[in-house]
Amino acid sequence: MCGIFGVHGHGDAVHLAQLGLYSLQHRGQESVGVVVFDKESGARVVRSMGTISPHMAAELDTLHGQMAIGHTRYSTAGSSTIENAQPVFVRSRGGYIALAHNGNITNAGELRQELEAQGSIFASTMDSEVLVHRLAKSTAATPDGRVSEALQGVEGAYSLIIGFGDTLVAARDPRGWRPLVMGRLNGSVVFASETCALDIVGAKYEREVGAGEIIAVDATGVRSSFPLERKPSTKCVFEYVYFARPDSRVYGGSVDRARRALGRRLAQEHPAPTAELVFSVPDSSNSAALGFAEESALPFEFALIRNHYVGRTFIQPTQKDRDAKVKVKYNAVREVVSGKSVVMVDDSIVRGTTTRGLVALVRAAGAREVHMRVSSPPITGPCYYGIDTPTREELIAANMDHEQIRRHLGVDSLGYLSLDGMLQSVPDGPHGFCHACFSGDYPTPPPTDPDKLRFGCGC
Ligand code: 5GP
Ligand code: SF4
Ligand code: MG
Repeated sequence: MCGIFGVHGHGDAVHLAQLGLYSLQHRGQESVGVVVFDKESGARVVRSMGTISPHMAAELDTLHGQMAIGHTRYSTAGSSTIENAQPVFVRSRGGYIALAHNGNITNAGELRQELEAQGSIFASTMDSEVLVHRLAKSTAATPDGRVSEALQGVEGAYSLIIGFGDTLVAARDPRGWRPLVMGRLNGSVVFASETCALDIVGAKYEREVGAGEIIAVDATGVRSSFPLERKPSTKCVFEYVYFARPDSRVYGGSVDRARRALGRRLAQEHPAPTAELVFSVPDSSNSAALGFAEESALPFEFALIRNHYVGRTFIQPTQKDRDAKVKVKYNAVREVVSGKSVVMVDDSIVRGTTTRGLVALVRAAGAREVHMRVSSPPITGPCYYGIDTPTREELIAANMDHEQIRRHLGVDSLGYLSLDGMLQSVPDGPHGFCHACFSGDYPTPPPTDPDKLRFGCGC
């Protein structure tokens, strides 16, 4: 998963991109990058591993331009290299091209082989680079025409922000898989994965980029077209469940309202009659836990405190002692849970390792009963569309039944939200969403070589 940002026609474009990326940092912490286009000096790129560092911020401060594109990249196993940092930035016949991609091209392998057979050379292992090659090859007269040509036959999930010289183009796949919004800041146009990035720069939300829409912004104004073949909508329901920030709107709906509704529905489906209080696993399940508490008429408490100063490097997936890992990140408040029957609400269970460690912490702090409630259904399959869920072997719900999971986590009761309950609770549900990782109902054939694609994924 990734965060993308673009601004056109603003004298302080670099600074705005930097701010936008700060607010999209939750969508990716593996690498970060900005490309700035300046009428006089051309284009420059600054990319760095990790999150925006003071060093990178200082470098960005020395640049200026009227158009900028930014990208935050999500951690994917094995491909944590600067070559895979975005925006992809190349010089082609027509000038500079910079591309920021959120999603996953499911036929990238085939498209890449096709290009390699014609002599193309690749500098990264990202699916997104395929798009840049196709853009460079297009002979269409306009930037939006080139994007349209390049995207014909491209399958999977993509929200894109692309810079060509002095034109900014935003595009979204015909299924509208990943979010992308458009805003205005005085005379300039801003695109971002989520509205929280519009808020931080002071831009006014205008609308979503439509599924299958290509929008070009240049000195003459804004042009919109829908040149791609229409497909059924498959918005990622996991954006509402976990990924997006609760202060954002995605797919035209409020993430906070969605999570509250998920929590309320969870309380209806799986009440915890003996419980005395509800708490969240901060920060991702805060809104869902509030919804659960409201619906159950139980107090919402802060029973787990998260340490915000632990860098990701400290929490390596390879680290052996998983309980110690959880302890570094969280601690339980004894005064809240001691002697109590408690409901712990989380948004999702993936491997179950964090959850198991948290339950142990809460029990060690004296909780009498622990009732686990999850505001999404069991995750039983991987995502091929831009979220780095692990392989089936690592997914707890793909390998254990309900009772086995309950015992493994060490909880007195376990309740997952139903698929139907989840889809009924999200804005504009229940139709038009992808729920493949929960239901096994994959909207497109999985990639022919999913493992390779996982390591080569741009997001
Ligand atoms: P588990 O118990 O499966 O080890 O961890 C569950 C936690 O992982 C939940 O708090 C959930 O918010 C979080 N989570 C769900 N999906 C993702 C993801 O894609 N990346 C990260 N870093 N955390 C996730
Ligand atoms: Fe979202 Fe799951 Fe579909 Fe991936 S498989 S796009 S995470 S709903
Ligand atoms: Mg969480």
